[in-house]
Amino acid sequence: MVTLDMPQVASPGEQARPLNWARVVSLEPEIPDVSTYGLRFEDPAIRSSYAFEPGQFNMIYLPGFGEAAISISSDPRETATISHTVRFVGNVTRAISRLQLGSVVGVRGPFGSAWPLAQLEGKDLFIACGGIGLPPLRPVLHHIVNHRERFGKVTLLYGARSPTELMYVKEYDRWRESGIQVETTVDRADASWDGRVGVVPMWFYHFRIDPRTTAVLTCGPEIMIRFVIFEALARRVPAESIYVSLERNMKCGQGSCGHCQIGPYFICRDGPVFQFDTLQPFFNVEEY
Ligand SMILES: Cc1cc2nc3c(=O)[nH]c(=O)nc-3n(C[C@H](O)[C@H](O)[C@H](O)COP(=O)(O)OP(=O)(O)OC[C@H]3O[C@@H](n4cnc5c(N)ncnc54)[C@H](O)[C@@H]3O)c2cc1C
Repeated sequence: MVTLDMPQVASPGEQARPLNWARVVSLEPEIPDVSTYGLRFEDPAIRSSYAFEPGQFNMIYLPGFGEAAISISSDPRETATISHTVRFVGNVTRAISRLQLGSVVGVRGPFGSAWPLAQLEGKDLFIACGGIGLPPLRPVLHHIVNHRERFGKVTLLYGARSPTELMYVKEYDRWRESGIQVETTVDRADASWDGRVGVVPMWFYHFRIDPRTTAVLTCGPEIMIRFVIFEALARRVPAESIYVSLERNMKCGQGSCGHCQIGPYFICRDGPVFQFDTLQPFFNVEEY
């Protein structure tokens, strides 16, 4: 998370973290064109010392193809194997789609700002995400399950394009058993679906959100994030209680090319998690 007086986080272009090799030890197809890879570092010293915070990402490197920023989607307490959930969209991620159990990849990281979970203790959390926006929030859900007593009411509102595109479905029961209210919605229903239909921000009205006690955490397509923020502000949630993770395409990774720039901030250097009040002057969401 970045606030104006926060120290800089390590960014991928600064080469602040060396490359380590890791083996694919689990491979779980999630939905069409998205799979989760469990990676285990080859070097036992790295395996035992590696640590990350929910919201951070690694650069995953495939020789001959390059590297891509991928959020860490596993439990921060269990770092012997770390997971990445990857959507196959381009050069590197399509090469990742051809990996098999036992394949080896390069990993640099962790990089970036994190969801400020220590600061949010005692608060109600409203987690609103869509599509591939759930993986960077999954470590948050793990953390809440591990430390449920530290948080108030926790609601997850997750949207996908269709029922078959909802990710981590097998984990919802465990999250619910931990007292997390898990709610899903789809853009387009099919014959199997009797749940909510409509985009994530559309369903905000359905939930009681106390602006004095609630922090909103959001990640997903940028258009969804804008409307989530709009709805949160409309319910008088202060901008400083809204946290966004932005996954704009980054090029140089060191805050110079401007591909992932928002006003004076760069996602690669200052993000991906931001407290919304820092971005508000530069991020076009009108206040209600
Ligand atoms: C901090 C951060 C965390 C991320 N976490 C994940 C993750 O957990 N899982 C995952 O699958 N992806 C994640 N991404 C996105 C991923 O890094 C990009 O999709 C990356 O470009 C894929 O590399 P590629 O070589 O396969 O695709 P490229 O060849 O770079 O791009 C292929 C096509 O996708 C478009 N594209 C690429 N990235 C983006 C983007 N971010 N937004 C919109 N369009 C894009 C390009 O314009 C191009 O048309 C993350 C990105 C960031 C910045």
